Formats: sequence, C-alpha cells, structure tokens
Amino acid sequence: MTCISHLESTADGSTLAAGELHNVHAGKPLLVRYDLDAVRASVTPRQWAERPGGMWRYEELLPLRDQANRVSLGEAETPLLHCPRLGERLGIDDLWIKDESRLPGGSFKARGMAMAVSMAKELGVSSVATPTAGNAGGALAAYAARAGMSCYVFMPDDTPVVNRYEAVMHGAKSWLVDGLIHQCGAIVREHQPAMGWFDMSTLREPYRIEGKKTMGLELAEQCSYELPDVILYPTGGGTGLIGMWKAFGELAELGWLKSEKRPRMFSCQSDTCAPLVPAFEQGLEHGVELENPETKAAGIRVPKALGDFLVLRAVRESGGRAMAAAEEGIRSWMELALELEGVPLCPESAACIGVLAKALKEGHIGAKEKVVLFNTGAAQKYVEVMACELPRIKPADWQPGMA
Ligand SMILES: *Cc1c(COP(=O)(O)O)cnc(C)c1O
Repeated sequence: MTCISHLESTADGSTLAAGELHNVHAGKPLLVRYDLDAVRASVTPRQWAERPGGMWRYEELLPLRDQANRVSLGEAETPLLHCPRLGERLGIDDLWIKDESRLPGGSFKARGMAMAVSMAKELGVSSVATPTAGNAGGALAAYAARAGMSCYVFMPDDTPVVNRYEAVMHGAKSWLVDGLIHQCGAIVREHQPAMGWFDMSTLREPYRIEGKKTMGLELAEQCSYELPDVILYPTGGGTGLIGMWKAFGELAELGWLKSEKRPRMFSCQSDTCAPLVPAFEQGLEHGVELENPETKAAGIRVPKALGDFLVLRAVRESGGRAMAAAEEGIRSWMELALELEGVPLCPESAACIGVLAKALKEGHIGAKEKVVLFNTGAAQKYVEVMACELPRIKPADWQPGMA
C-alpha cells in the first residue's frame, strides 16, 4: 500500500494533489513526497526483503495506489557484480557494477517506464508520447503495448538503429525527425491538445523518477543498508541520479541506513556532450547550453536537461563531481568491461570507466574506496558501436597455428 502524500514543485515548493494527472509546474519538474511515518509504521526492510525480488517490492515508497494497475514485464532485481579484474586494471580494489542491462528491453529505462505507464493507467491515460534519442522510446513502446495504450515516438534521424526498430516492433507510431531531440520534444508538447496524448518526456511527468529511484533502494538492500563510498552514473536527463539521491534521502529519514554515510555521486558524461561539467566547475545552477553535441553514447546525448539543476544539486550535496570522459575512449572502455568481466557495458557506462580512471588519477576517488558503477544498458543494443571485422576463412583453411 502506497504511503504517497503529495507532489512537490521544484520551482517553488508548492504542493499538488496526488491522484491527479500532472506534467510540470511552473515549467519545472515535480517530485513525489511520502508520509514517511506511515512507511515506517507499515513495513520494515526485512519485510521488503521477503517479498518477490525487483522494483515492486518497495510499494510503500512508490506512488501506485492499486497494485492491479501495475504494468509489468517482470522487472527482476539486477545483480551487483564484483569486478576484481577490471578493478585491478584501473587500480582500484573494490569495484562493483550494478548490471541494469538485464531489465526488460535491455536498459534501466524499464524501471522508469514501468512506473510511469502504471501511473498513467491508474490515472486514466490511454495514449502516451515521448521524444527519444535512445532507449526511452522502445521502453515506453513496450510498456504501452503491455498496457494496451497507444504510443507515439519521435526521434532524431541519427538515433541508434536498434532503438528505432524496437519502438516500431512494439507497435508505437514512430517518426524519424530531421532535427534534434528538443525539437522532438516540442512536437509532443505542441500537438498534445489536438492528440490528447500524455507527455512522458524525461522529468515532464513525476513518476519515471520514482521507478528509477528503485535502483537506489535495491542497491541499499544489496549492501545491507551500508551504502558504498562512490556511485558513478552516466547522466543524460538525470532521472536516475536524481532518483537514487532521493532514495538515499528517504532511507536516511526513515532511519534505515546503517551509517550516516551516503555515496558521493559522480555524474559522468562524454567530453563531446558534457553540459554539466563546466556548470559544476563554475558553480552554476544550470547546465550550459550546447548546440548539437555528438556522442556515440546516445543515452547521454542530452544538450539541455530540464532537471539539470536537480542533478547538480544532488552531486554537490553528496560531495561528488560532474566529470567527462574522452569520447575516443568509449569503445575501448566497453571492450575492457566485456573482455575482463563479461559484463555487456553500454557506451554510456563506458564513459563512467573513463571518469573513474581520471578521478583516481586526480585523487577525487581513492584506490581503497567501494565504488559502484551503473551499467544502464546492454552493449548489444549498440550494434553501430560494436561493429568490427572478423577474419574470414574457408572451413579447410583453419589451422591450430591461427589461434
Ligand atoms: C537514458 C539513458 C541514460 C541517461 O539516463 P538519465 O537517468 O536520464 O540521466 C544512460 N544510459 C542509458 C543506456 C540510457 O538509456
């Protein structure tokens, strides 16, 4: 049973009623607030742990009122993998990857969309739309299909090929837009009155954050409520980082963390699309505006995020940093994780490896610290980045000397 209390505007702190459809307030995102006393009175971490694994076990701290409205594709708990070989290569003792590539559709977008589509269903929505430059469109299309809703997806024409096809295969009406991601978002907003669809864009509805928050709840549980020193997270729109920081705050207020310590949040971007990095370094409230940044890490190709100020706030509160990794290194950092650990690291999370190496060198992260890196998607979704040549032979040609 949810202990939701209300929605809070990040523009001015004003309160909006739960149980009604909302997008933004005064142009800024809304955050879900809970009655934490009621949560404490209704459940314990031990009871959570006894329920079936995955995001839905935290239902007191999630917004859905009636579990019959749950739209699920079987969101399993994702493993927290110790990565000693990769750690050794980078010069760090205690490196872990939380592998979100196992979720439906092969990315952590599933958490956000499962929650947002469930809430949309509960609040009577029958049609949804989103701009996307990567995994969001396919994830929304999948959950909309599961809910029997109609779905509309607008993507820039350089969106990765798997992301294009998955949206179409899940039955979403999809368009390749000769333009940038913010122009795709503008189509959704401009035509909302005529089409009547609900706008599911990043941070333009309040519940994707709540879904992604479960990464933090799950991690806390997997670490027995003793949080790691550092989290590295590839940041595009920032939903995941904002959500996890919110989760840690809620757990702290509930008194369920074993120690006061909360992780330093490292927001990781590619140096060819890093609006948060100069903002962090110069003490600005918002990210800087970029014209048309390129990166093969499609999920973090976000030139201007609506919630950039919330990401920067969380990073600063946590004592972390916003850092960028070299775009040229992305493919080889992916290879490193695939070869040394067998983990199918996506290009977005490869940027986290680059940031980790740099932060170790610059002394922002210590070699003995416990570091958790999020693999937000499956390498296999990025066929363009993975593409390589294999030696071609005739069956009779092969000799042991070739091995
Ligand atoms: C969307 C996406 C991101 C960025 O996520 P935010 O929480 O919006 O910052 C990172 N990695 C992958 C694989 C994504 O699809």
